[in-house]
Amino acid sequence: MTRTAYRTCPLCEAGCGLEISLRDTPDGEEVVRIRGDQADVFSLGYICPKGSTLKQLHEDPDRLRSPMIRRDGKHVEVSWDEAFAEIERRLLPVLEVHGRDACAVYLGNPSAHSLAGMLYGRPLLRALGSTNVFSASTVDQRPKEISAALMFGGGLNVPVPDVDRTDYLLMLGANPFASNGSLATAPDWPGRLERLVARGGSLVVVDPRRSRTAEMATEWVPVRPGSDAYLLMAMVQVLFEEDLVALGGTEEFVTGLDEVAAVCAPFTPEVVAHATGIDAGSIRRIARELAAAPTACVYGRIGTTTAEFGTITSWLVDVLNALTGNLDRPGGAMFAKAAVGAANTRGKPRYGRETKLHRRVSRVRGLPETMGELPVVALAEEIDTPGEGQVRALITVAGNPVLSTPNSGRLDAALASLECMVSIDIYLNETTRHADVILPAPSSLQKTHYDVALLQVALRNVANYSEAVLPLDAGQLAEWEVFARLALLLQGAGAEGDPAVVDDLMIDSLVRASIGDETSPIHGRDPEEILLALAPRRGPARLIDFMVRTGPYGEGFGADPDGLSLDVLLAHPHGIDLGALEPRLPDVLRTPDGMIDLAPALLVADVARLQEGLDGRREHRFVLIGRRQLRSNNSWMHNVNVLVKGKPRCTLQLHPDDAGELGLTSGDPAVVTSRVGKVTVPVEVTDAIRPGVVSIPHGWGHDLPGMQMGVAGEHAGVNSNLLADEELFDAISGNAVLNGIPVEVAAAT
Ligand code: SF4
Repeated sequence: MTRTAYRTCPLCEAGCGLEISLRDTPDGEEVVRIRGDQADVFSLGYICPKGSTLKQLHEDPDRLRSPMIRRDGKHVEVSWDEAFAEIERRLLPVLEVHGRDACAVYLGNPSAHSLAGMLYGRPLLRALGSTNVFSASTVDQRPKEISAALMFGGGLNVPVPDVDRTDYLLMLGANPFASNGSLATAPDWPGRLERLVARGGSLVVVDPRRSRTAEMATEWVPVRPGSDAYLLMAMVQVLFEEDLVALGGTEEFVTGLDEVAAVCAPFTPEVVAHATGIDAGSIRRIARELAAAPTACVYGRIGTTTAEFGTITSWLVDVLNALTGNLDRPGGAMFAKAAVGAANTRGKPRYGRETKLHRRVSRVRGLPETMGELPVVALAEEIDTPGEGQVRALITVAGNPVLSTPNSGRLDAALASLECMVSIDIYLNETTRHADVILPAPSSLQKTHYDVALLQVALRNVANYSEAVLPLDAGQLAEWEVFARLALLLQGAGAEGDPAVVDDLMIDSLVRASIGDETSPIHGRDPEEILLALAPRRGPARLIDFMVRTGPYGEGFGADPDGLSLDVLLAHPHGIDLGALEPRLPDVLRTPDGMIDLAPALLVADVARLQEGLDGRREHRFVLIGRRQLRSNNSWMHNVNVLVKGKPRCTLQLHPDDAGELGLTSGDPAVVTSRVGKVTVPVEVTDAIRPGVVSIPHGWGHDLPGMQMGVAGEHAGVNSNLLADEELFDAISGNAVLNGIPVEVAAAT
């Protein structure tokens, strides 16, 4: 017997639809094949090499299926009850003696791709009550979240490039041919870009490396690493100087235009040419092209946010979109309207709360809090620096900071010194080998899925709910139950708390909050009636059902019989297309005055730092940048043989001129040294990189003792974050600098 199941791929932000063939076995079912779902309303059959490996991930013998406890230095399998009892025994005394802040939390990137993580992560954090919260966001995207919050009133109020309809796309620091887009959810970015070029559009890629995306672009602009802010500021200056500013339909919703004109004035193309490595004529030309294109948009991603001026860069991306009249119009940069979870579809349109940043600072270095978190560049020192308020325990959720965060050598040592560490993770990896207790989530095929966060930044409005394809193993906890039980334990309810208690509290508070919201379709209704209508579902399914039904397309518990509910989503396993993005100004705004703040005071003030950076600019012989790879997903998918086999991919890319000077050829080992670390890595000589710039992909370095990832260990590579320096960060967001780390390169002796 065979059957076919459909689900959304949860591995990256593209959200491709998968068609999964299964057959009966004596023990249940097994996956026979995974391919792209031709009928998926968004991905239309597109899939990348990672998508089909959900089968291998599920079947990976190294994937943890039972909780693990570290005993006498070795991890051993235990029951769930034993695991939670161990956490109670080891973690609670730390909290009782040293307070809640003594336990930090690190949330990894896959948390954002997990429905349970999105829904039940917050109750877990509340139950812990620590201010020492860290996440992958400050090694990735926090600058964009901050600029969006300051300009538009929400961290996910991010305008996305309308790639399918634009005539001109200026892309900085992004390589969708490898990563499939980020903070701009859409399957098949490569196809979308190819179609843009095929219809005569322009794709201008600004990147120190001639990435695959740059290869097929109409123009590659080999910028110096970390200088995008100067380039964009000069383009803004050109628009004002040449009277090319034309706000179009957004004019009546914008404040701060004069401040932008004033602040950009010193940054002429001639002034920034050396810092950016781009001649003034090219900068002027690109600015004019952007202004003249019938439709255009600017899109910046990880290269722009992992930089010293990441927040300024993220801000200027949308300043350019606004100044050229391309904000909130088809073919420009637009706002999605998500069916679930978006703050910009709830509450009173336009008016929102002030975005408060830097409300507190970290203990050791005084680094700023943003969005309830501290920068991850501060994590190691908060653990290894003695004194009042020292972090003595850590909970990691789907994160591998030993490979993913700066100066990971120091962090690795710091983790070994913790009094207690608990990890929710599916692998015994570089980070979780330090954990006293590991709580494994089920495999992706055993989980329900809805992209609560990512569809808020989608290039098209879609809704897509996936049921679990395979059942839980005997005795296995669902992921939401793991979160809920840990939350209960942290609140003192014991090691054997009933997850249903947390679940009921969550739905109850959601329902009551919605009933109290005068803009909600259930405003003033009887909560018991709503809860009854949601029964008998529990867990994420009940929460999503409620969120869909009260969302912008929802049936509103009877208010709109044609609206969406979970039942409707379940009847559409290929997803529901809610249409192309449409202009949403001004209702999408949640700033205090209901206007777009084109010149947030915090960012305008930070321009002084940008000027200082220009005046005191130091030249380094070599700077290091990262690179994305199609068959990698940060650090965690290298245990899938089909994704790592073949030629070693963890290489140091080096320009031929530099290689000649150093006496290196492809395959030779080179030693790369930074202020904080040193690695030896094989060289790959290529002219696809600027002279003076070297590149190592991140997520490698699987050769640490105590891990249980056999395939990854055979393809270890080196950890580029051994070189990343925790003293390099963006002052506004605290985001790590990974783009342009000063290094020395030499032949290995
Ligand atoms: S691009 Fe690949 S990894 Fe990302 S969602 Fe699609 S199939 Fe999955």
